[in-house]
Amino acid sequence: MATIKEALAALLALQEKDKVLDARRKAVDAVAPRVAAVKSDLANEKKRMDAAKAKTLELEKLKKSKELDVASKEEAARKHGLQLNEVKSNDAYRALQAEIAKEKAAAGDVETEILQLMEDIDRSRAEEKALAAELKKIEDFAKSDLERLAAELSHAEGERAAAQAARDAAATPVPPEILRVYDHIRSRGKADAIVPVVDGHCGGCQINLAPSMTLEVAKLKSLAVCESCQRILYKPEKPAAAAA
Ligand SMILES: [Zn+2]
Repeated sequence: MATIKEALAALLALQEKDKVLDARRKAVDAVAPRVAAVKSDLANEKKRMDAAKAKTLELEKLKKSKELDVASKEEAARKHGLQLNEVKSNDAYRALQAEIAKEKAAAGDVETEILQLMEDIDRSRAEEKALAAELKKIEDFAKSDLERLAAELSHAEGERAAAQAARDAAATPVPPEILRVYDHIRSRGKADAIVPVVDGHCGGCQINLAPSMTLEVAKLKSLAVCESCQRILYKPEKPAAAAA
């Protein structure tokens, strides 16, 4: 059975390893948001590209329907032109002529719209092309970024595994009932579960400890815990002894 003094020394060694492990875990966790940021940038750029493509398609569809519209107006004008020969009265002839003129004018108006649409389509295609070039660049950057981040993650995971192994090894000499107390304190978000008594104060929460508590810590008979913050207390070695 380990003495309290040995157990406290083992806990302090464990706490050092736990702090290293905490840092290694943070390093691992820090990679995922960076990967997400790269992927989100890429996804946004693809969305812009898709939107530009959709716009061109929309304009082309509109142009197609306008062309059909022109064709049907011209066809109507042509059919009415054929009917001119069959008309009996002058009034009917003039009415038909007016109708044909109206149809041709309407077809001409739509053709003007088509010319405008063709300019719009050219502009949209140019925009698409520029975005495609930009996307290609961003894809290349993202690819190398993601490769670098994957390597970083793998390295960080290796270091975390090593820190975990070192931590587990350091936990072995700590008596199980003391380890439970220590782990419980750490699980409550207190990274420094074992703290020194400094000038009669708790090294964790700084509260002034009762003299009986300071004495209990010094006696090394049982595990002393701060009444205020529940951290495990220990009496630091004299500087000379610590250096030795
Ligand atoms: Zn305290």
